[in-house]
Amino acid sequence: MTQRLLRGRLLTFHREPQNGEDSDAYTYLEDGALLIQDGIIQDTGPYAEISMNAGGVPVTDHRPHLMMAGFIDTHVHFPQVQVIASWGAQLLDWLNNYTFPEETRFASDEHSAHMARAFYDQLLSHGTTTAVAYCSVHKASADAFFTEATRRNMRMLGGKVLMDRNAPEGLLDTPQTGYDDTKDLIRDWHGKGRNGYVITPRFAITSTPEQMAMAQALAQEHPDCHIQTHLSENKDEIAYTAQLYPSARDYLDVYQSYGLLGRKTLLGHSIHLEAREVDALAETGAHPVFCPTSNLFLGSGLFDHGGLSARGISNGIATDIGAGTSYSMLQTLNEGYKILQLQGLALHPLQAFHWATLGNACVLGLEDKIGNLAPGTEADIVVLNARSTSAMALRMDRVSSLAEELFVLQMMGDDRAIEAVYVSGSPSVGCPVSTPGQETANIPVMTPR
Ligand SMILES: [Zn+2]
Repeated sequence: MTQRLLRGRLLTFHREPQNGEDSDAYTYLEDGALLIQDGIIQDTGPYAEISMNAGGVPVTDHRPHLMMAGFIDTHVHFPQVQVIASWGAQLLDWLNNYTFPEETRFASDEHSAHMARAFYDQLLSHGTTTAVAYCSVHKASADAFFTEATRRNMRMLGGKVLMDRNAPEGLLDTPQTGYDDTKDLIRDWHGKGRNGYVITPRFAITSTPEQMAMAQALAQEHPDCHIQTHLSENKDEIAYTAQLYPSARDYLDVYQSYGLLGRKTLLGHSIHLEAREVDALAETGAHPVFCPTSNLFLGSGLFDHGGLSARGISNGIATDIGAGTSYSMLQTLNEGYKILQLQGLALHPLQAFHWATLGNACVLGLEDKIGNLAPGTEADIVVLNARSTSAMALRMDRVSSLAEELFVLQMMGDDRAIEAVYVSGSPSVGCPVSTPGQETANIPVMTPR
């Protein structure tokens, strides 16, 4: 049995705050504590109370920093870590010129394993403890993705993309091989440790109707798996999709007609939607995923978070690396704030931090496991330092509330603001105290900072 007591300022959400005054939506403790045992949060509350019941459990003191649930990234491309910041193209050209050639390299087991290590290092150093990822078409890439997640004991979701047309030869499967590889990967990884498999038809343009039918079969045979794809990111993409699926009522209908919409479905981007598509999202419970840095970078458009939320649709928020330009969920919230401002909506910082933690956990249906610090949940924790740069420290001298501090972190913070990260209760980045009897077997490997 491994026990650990973390002390620090503590913030955890219970539900989405309706506004800045909605203090029932979260708990904030100036001197809080988390008692962790074998990777699970056992108890939480004021330090004076928790420490009294904790006996001689070693304490790590993170004051004055802020402890929160680790960030969750609901849309990211694992094979695109080396195409971030590729110049000058919008979606379809960006895929053809940069992304597809890069993804062909993941046919190699060795390259996939090397990049998986680099990918998880980046996630953790930016405070992200769970992500939902697209792997490449190659089974090897998904094996590498889950092997490394397992080694670090991280809660990760992902899947190999299904794509059987409109891409280079080295990136194509067939309806049958895509189905077979996915079945093997589900058998080998889904529900093993903390891994979850995501059935992943890349998007309508790269899958034939035959492959969509196979994705439907997979979804029916594995209803406990998530499904992810892309929707209505770019106008040329939408026009091309309409040519390829002439009988579909609209873009979303391609997925809907193959039975791929439900509460476990994640639809990256979902920017340019018809009224019928919004109705279908509301009816099926499928989740649009907002990818602010990517949408700005590729010039794709402005995500209508306010309009979709008003219809009762719950949206994820995500980096979309490598069209996204930062691994940081703080920077993602920063650019997201600006996109919503362009539409007259000022997202409150408490809502923003809820979104990147409990909100995304709820989108995934994993709120009983991650995204908050309630007893019984998995101890994936980020510790944030709002004075991590001189410019932030200067600003913080004039800050007098939690909401103001969160907004400084959101607008000015990045990986430098990540003071420490715990995965399943074990420290990963910059944990300042080495305690006797500290568990080492599951410590995520990080390059020291
Ligand atoms: Zn994407």
